[in-house]
Amino acid sequence: MSEKIYKIVNARLLLNHEIVENEYLWFQHGKIIHPQNLFFDAHRDADEIIDAKGLIVAPGFIDTQINGGYGIDFADNEGSVEKIQQDINTVAKGLLQYGCTAFCPTVVSSAPAVYSKVLPLLNQRKGSVQGGAEILGAHIEGPFISVEKKGAHDQTVFRNAKNGISDFDDAYGPELKKGSKAISIMTVAPEIDGVADCIPDLVKRGITVAMGHTACRIAQAEEAVKQGATSITHLFNAMQAFHHRDPGLVGVLGAADLPIPSSQIGHPASSLTSPSRNKPDPRPFYGIICDGVHVHPNSVRIAYYSHPNGAVLVTDALSAMGLPKGTYTLGGREVEVDESGACYVKGTSTLAGCTVTIDDCVRNFQRFTNCSQVEAIEAATLHPARLLGIEDRKGTLNVNADADFVFLDDSTGELRVKRVFVAGEEIALVNGLV
Ligand SMILES: [Zn+2]
Repeated sequence: MSEKIYKIVNARLLLNHEIVENEYLWFQHGKIIHPQNLFFDAHRDADEIIDAKGLIVAPGFIDTQINGGYGIDFADNEGSVEKIQQDINTVAKGLLQYGCTAFCPTVVSSAPAVYSKVLPLLNQRKGSVQGGAEILGAHIEGPFISVEKKGAHDQTVFRNAKNGISDFDDAYGPELKKGSKAISIMTVAPEIDGVADCIPDLVKRGITVAMGHTACRIAQAEEAVKQGATSITHLFNAMQAFHHRDPGLVGVLGAADLPIPSSQIGHPASSLTSPSRNKPDPRPFYGIICDGVHVHPNSVRIAYYSHPNGAVLVTDALSAMGLPKGTYTLGGREVEVDESGACYVKGTSTLAGCTVTIDDCVRNFQRFTNCSQVEAIEAATLHPARLLGIEDRKGTLNVNADADFVFLDDSTGELRVKRVFVAGEEIALVNGLV
């Protein structure tokens, strides 16, 4: 890594929830640094000036739910370990093109043999120009989920946790013991036998527990939050539709009497809709797919207005991301992508992940909700970093954060990615892609 000290000038920087002008951003060794220390300690100035030409400079986007792309599915364990490793790198590099500098590769419900082969390859790994976007640990979705809300998952591998945490260790193997180094997020259905009681054990291992693919009722969802669940997986999709008498998992967005967390780590900041204005929000974060197909724009807006700081933009992209219309695989099942980019389980109308990219999600979220540029960007940067408890190094431009940036052009009214840096190095964008 270069010893050089870099200074970004002529930028509009996203700092502390505001876009500010007339400030510089300094970085070295892949980290944002404080220039004051340089002058006093080493009497140095920047070795290289980067002219942002008036663009917005924001943290790189983080995608906490992505199944694959470019014809590759992270749940596919066919072929040699070398081949799978290569495939992971292909996706990781491809994601940089969209400004996604860190991600949680997502593995749908699978048999133990698949996890034992695939999960060791998806452990946390630093981002780089050569290796691609940073891997933040896998997001494992299922198999402790509901048959009723299975979506595109293969129900023959579904399980329950009647024997407690040992059922989880049986399902995923030794990788689960590594905690967040290997597994950053786990999506479970809280009503499945034994699952709710295991949440504290999973949280102790550093895993972010998300509720999803669930038919749970509101009481079960709130109980899971009390046990330590801090996220909802793809809000509105694969859960009970909102019913006023029992609003199910969606109803957690309206919860007013959940225990208030003692620390901000892993929890949304307070907002005008929080139970308390000056304490962390006890309501979970929620991943939301802003492709305009999975969730109606009005529903996105309702979620945003009820819990703005909980929004986490996810693509839920699958192997077909980056590829044209056709038939592809997801967790061993065939899915079809139509002209609009929507994906269905072959021959059915069941949605099965998308081909949307994270920068599309940011633009759509801003358009659907009328939120500010800062809010749209933070839903793909700060919020996912907070969800994972890594905001000291990801999701902001604060000193000591990783030097992962996107330069965004807003001259058309929409945020367009123009330049991308990962770990302090600029990547070459493929012409015509952005
Ligand atoms: Zn899902």
